[in-house]
Amino acid sequence: MNTREKRNAKKTKERKREEKIIYICGAILTGILGTFAFKTMVAMATPENPEVEAAAEALKEKQNSEKEEIPPEKSEPGIERERNTFLIAIDPGHGGEDCGCIEGGIIEKDINLQIAFRVKEKLEEKGFQVMMPRQNDEYLAKEERVELANSYQADAYVSIHQNTYEGSDKSVSGIETWYDGLDEMRDNKRLAQLIHQETVKSTGAQERTLWGEAQFCVTGKTLMPACLIETGFLSNPQERELLATEEYQEKVAEGIAEGINLYFHPKSMYLTFDDGPSKENTDKVLDVLKEKNIKATFFLIGEYVEKYPEVARRIAQEGHTIGIHCYRHDYQVLYESVDSYLEDFWKAYDVILATTGVKAELVRFPGGSVNAYNKDTCKDIAEELTKQGFVFFDWNASLDDAVGEKEPEQLLINARFTTLDRKKVVMLLHDRVTNTALCLNDLIDQFPEYRMKTLNTKMEPVQFPMP
Ligand SMILES: [Zn+2]
Repeated sequence: MNTREKRNAKKTKERKREEKIIYICGAILTGILGTFAFKTMVAMATPENPEVEAAAEALKEKQNSEKEEIPPEKSEPGIERERNTFLIAIDPGHGGEDCGCIEGGIIEKDINLQIAFRVKEKLEEKGFQVMMPRQNDEYLAKEERVELANSYQADAYVSIHQNTYEGSDKSVSGIETWYDGLDEMRDNKRLAQLIHQETVKSTGAQERTLWGEAQFCVTGKTLMPACLIETGFLSNPQERELLATEEYQEKVAEGIAEGINLYFHPKSMYLTFDDGPSKENTDKVLDVLKEKNIKATFFLIGEYVEKYPEVARRIAQEGHTIGIHCYRHDYQVLYESVDSYLEDFWKAYDVILATTGVKAELVRFPGGSVNAYNKDTCKDIAEELTKQGFVFFDWNASLDDAVGEKEPEQLLINARFTTLDRKKVVMLLHDRVTNTALCLNDLIDQFPEYRMKTLNTKMEPVQFPMP
């Protein structure tokens, strides 16, 4: 199942649960879906195979005992931990007697090792230090790999594998990534999401499931954020051929390395909410932000601060940044002259100060600094505010949630579409909009490559060009 199918299946499952009358049918359906998902899973090659590993282990011991005088070869990356850099463990799955899957003469352990070396090179170019638990075609137990990474206190662990579809369908292809979603102490999900997302992007391969229920030694026993990526299906003749080429391996490696890079060096996104506080939705927005431990910026309307002072105070108490939007959201009155703008502005300033105790420094003009209503006055108003020490912010990405009732899914698409991979994104949202509150959780999940921050007076503001 691909991600969308799985999400749909999950939705269906949830809906069924709510209909109590057909609860039993729902339970049966859930069971069928569950069994189907499980069957799909076991039809794939498992990255860890106890039988093969036991055989390889036995052989290794036998070989070691036969050459007693020579000390057993020990796999040591032999690295010295560099200062001021992140150490990444890149683990090529399988090795030695444990070949992984073999299809059409292509052996998984070889592809894993080739890709791992390419990832290593790319990470080193980006300034990371890399350790590889295995660097040649040797058998190394998964426990030993994990032990090595743990003893070096690596900052992240990525295991590289290839997939095989054991059913008759040879057309199955694409990328799957696994992480331990139960361990909330480690940030496994974000690492897995980024590696998954970037590798799908760099290769153009089919995006398959990002699994949060990995129960592998390398994802479960590691002490640092960890994931396991299956970069393609050796059972698919076309994908197998690609995976054996230098060009495609480079693309795979590029994606994995960039995912790791973004994990440690995220871009910045500033969530900015206009037009609040609102009675119904601001609390919902604040709940999500609290749960996600994210701080945002709220440009408040004075009139509503008077109406809903408790909500305004909650915004301040929970550590979000408060800026001024206006007192009354009336374009015509606001932008008639510099004086009319300032009169409204100071009224908002005073109400916000009296209610929340916040001396606001940031401003967002209703409609943006340059709009259809202020062609004649925008320059003077902007100059006057700047002279008085305020910093105004426009935006460079938007949910487009202010006009028309757009579905949450559409809002997510708008956000993704307008972000354009920028390094610094000031995102416009409206906390009075129900669907914005509804999609906020997914919105934040949608951008693992960004760290969410609050606007401040020290940063270079995002502003529309003045006419
Ligand atoms: Zn507004």
